[in-house]
Amino acid sequence: MTPVPAARRPPPGGTVEVAPGVTWVRMPLPYALDHVNLWLLAEEDGFTLVDTGHGDAATRAAWEALEGGLLRGRPVRRVICTHHHPDHVGLAGWMSERWGAGLWATRTEWLEARAYAAAGLAEQEEAATRFYRSLGVPEADLPALAACFHAYPENVSRPPATFRRIRDGEVLTAGGRAWKVRVGRGHAPEHACLHAAEAGLLVAGDQLLPHISPNVSVWHDEPDADPLADFLESLEALRDVDDGCLVLPSHGHPFRGVRQRCEELARHHRERLAAALEACAEPRTPHEVVAALFRGRLDAHQSTFALGEALAHLHRLEAEGRVERVRRPGAPDRFRRRGGAGTAVTAGG
Ligand SMILES: [Zn+2]
Repeated sequence: MTPVPAARRPPPGGTVEVAPGVTWVRMPLPYALDHVNLWLLAEEDGFTLVDTGHGDAATRAAWEALEGGLLRGRPVRRVICTHHHPDHVGLAGWMSERWGAGLWATRTEWLEARAYAAAGLAEQEEAATRFYRSLGVPEADLPALAACFHAYPENVSRPPATFRRIRDGEVLTAGGRAWKVRVGRGHAPEHACLHAAEAGLLVAGDQLLPHISPNVSVWHDEPDADPLADFLESLEALRDVDDGCLVLPSHGHPFRGVRQRCEELARHHRERLAAALEACAEPRTPHEVVAALFRGRLDAHQSTFALGEALAHLHRLEAEGRVERVRRPGAPDRFRRRGGAGTAVTAGG
């Protein structure tokens, strides 16, 4: 994996051209992961924008500043969103109202954004509480975890009521180039990447990141999901992208070397599967597996990610027949390695 030199990185709210007609916009995020990358594709009369940034005042202010600069007389005419997370779709509604920019997205991601933005908070909180209780989280910790799901409607402007659907395999034109839509799953249900094979560019969203492993979690709204199967399958599918292709990820720096990065991410998950399997030598709840896998104290937000990731790995192991679920009436299920303590730990799958 070869990153673009750090010196070319734009400051928060700033821009840098990374390929002819492709401008990297870096917007702030109020988290440990402190930025998100967006991409402006130059059209004759304005821009197509891929992802919008977080739906907060700081990002709106940065866009307002760009209106007087790069966007002066050349507004954003269209927004293409890779997926429904708040740092990607957060300002689609605001941009639709302000600039008349139409939203292009896959159907599932648009529906997810609309559903989460409209969801009743009490209902979300109840479902999340039931879910985390079922994973073995102590009662005292449940309210803080459930409260994490307030963040969605607070961090997105209401997504537009209408959209233009994009589909896997469709070729769309933006910035004078043909881009093939490549849907990836596992991080989000129908995440769109955009691949301009001739130009050697892949807008990867969160599907392929250079330094961190995209979050692959089971969430309260689909407690039986197996997102790791989806994610690993999507990684396989991306290996046909040319290794010389410049990958434009949503976090971190642009880089080359798609195949190597896909292999590294697959290896990371094989190692996590082996570690989760090892943790299940004794029957354990997902909460106990997290305690075995993650050292140090996690805040509520980090706990939701750690629990979601641990459960994703347990569900994969269960589907592969390597762990079994031990049901206990009135108590959280435990997961136990199949074949007893003597079973060899393999890193397959
Ligand atoms: Zn995301």
